[in-house]
Amino acid sequence: MKKLTDLIGVGVGPFNLSVAALLERVPHLSSQFFDNKKEFIWHEGLMLPNTYMQTSYLKDLVTAVEPASPYSFMSYLVKNKKFYRFLNTEMQTITRAEFSDYLSWTAKQIEQVKFSHAVEEIKHVKDRFVVTTSQGDFESKHLCLGTGKSAYVPEYLKTSLGDHCFHASEMGLRNIDLTGKKVVLVGGGQTGADIFLNALRGHWGQPAQLDWLSRRANFQALDEAAFANEFFVPQYVEQFYHLDQVVKKREIDAQKLTSDGITTEALRAIYQELYDKFEVQKQRKWVRLLPHRTVTSMTQRFDGFNMDVKNSLNGLEESHSGTVVILATGFETKLPRCLAPIMDQLNLCEDGLLQLDENFKVQWQGNPKNSIYAVNAGLGSHGIADPQLSLAAWRSAKIINDLAGECCFDISESSNVMEWGNEGSTTPFSVADFVSVA
Ligand SMILES: Cc1cc2nc3c(=O)[nH]c(=O)nc-3n(C[C@H](O)[C@H](O)[C@H](O)COP(=O)(O)OP(=O)(O)OC[C@H]3O[C@@H](n4cnc5c(N)ncnc54)[C@H](O)[C@@H]3O)c2cc1C
Repeated sequence: MKKLTDLIGVGVGPFNLSVAALLERVPHLSSQFFDNKKEFIWHEGLMLPNTYMQTSYLKDLVTAVEPASPYSFMSYLVKNKKFYRFLNTEMQTITRAEFSDYLSWTAKQIEQVKFSHAVEEIKHVKDRFVVTTSQGDFESKHLCLGTGKSAYVPEYLKTSLGDHCFHASEMGLRNIDLTGKKVVLVGGGQTGADIFLNALRGHWGQPAQLDWLSRRANFQALDEAAFANEFFVPQYVEQFYHLDQVVKKREIDAQKLTSDGITTEALRAIYQELYDKFEVQKQRKWVRLLPHRTVTSMTQRFDGFNMDVKNSLNGLEESHSGTVVILATGFETKLPRCLAPIMDQLNLCEDGLLQLDENFKVQWQGNPKNSIYAVNAGLGSHGIADPQLSLAAWRSAKIINDLAGECCFDISESSNVMEWGNEGSTTPFSVADFVSVA
């Protein structure tokens, strides 16, 4: 058994890495972070060519709360001696490959971050957690869960999974050859777009046919307008947390395209590629873009798949077929299996996910002296920004402040002209206000 630390982080994606990076500023809190991977690679299976971040590089692990941190993206540029050349590119967003390199560069410098440590089981004994990893047991007073999301495949498509039908998150992990294949790509979000563009450019060989199906009414753009981005500021999240659950669900659904749409750059690249292939080169039309289509069932034949598809525009049923089916059907939150020994002590929401307090602390029945925090588990409670990088640093600071029981990071904000109308947020004008303005 190793020495008792204040915090163990379970899983090291960008979100727990942000907690680890900021914790270096708080030396009186000891910590260790475990990840099952051999080394840091960000979403390895989706590390495709021509893929870019959806968010600014300033929304890195630390900058929003600790701009002078040695782990900012600016530090990464300077220490890697590419600052001036980076500026000369005038890039607003960076490639995912560079962001992954930045994350990996950070992870390598933080001693407390340990790879090849799969967390297998978490028990609670008296006043501490006992965390069993593939490299032995470790103890901590508190936990921060950061195991990310899992590939989502609709139940009725699961029986088709195999060599020729797979989730998009495996694209970079498989030896894929689409040459001469009839490819059906399901899913019209950013991942679908990234795969479509690469397939169109022949990255996996020249397909005989490429059909891209989306349930959405069109291949819809990410809403990055200034006011849409107000959903990704701390004040909004703080107000959102106190809304009624029904209202939260409605707002999350309405805000979907602020995080799940396709970047304008990717849409333009796809459109230009289509124009070049089919209007300039006058290639045979081997591509179809099919919005408004929902796959309702799929059956496997000896040489591929048949799909029943509902067209929600005209209400008609369609049949589609392919020899390879790629499911860009998104990701879902699942509770990690290692929680099994303490599962009956965790308070869960109706959807079976963790109940979080405002400071991302899981509500649980165990010893109140031991806290469990969770990152990327608060879409339902904290809103649309929670699974995104935008507020990762702010959330880490909030967690650390709560853990330390003091203000290690000043995350207070200036007042905003945008008033969402939550209870207490609107100050009525008095006659004196009008008089002084006049
Ligand atoms: C392809 C892709 C691109 C994205 N691009 C953007 C973007 O541009 N902007 C944005 O704001 N958001 C983006 N997101 C959303 C989000 O920012 C990322 O998914 C982000 O990686 C989430 O971080 P995380 O730390 O929660 O999880 P992850 O990055 O998934 O990391 C979780 C880690 O936990 C490890 N793990 C799991 N179980 C265990 C265990 N039992 N023991 C030990 N380790 C374990 C996993 O191996 C993994 O390393 C993107 C998402 C995807 C899928």
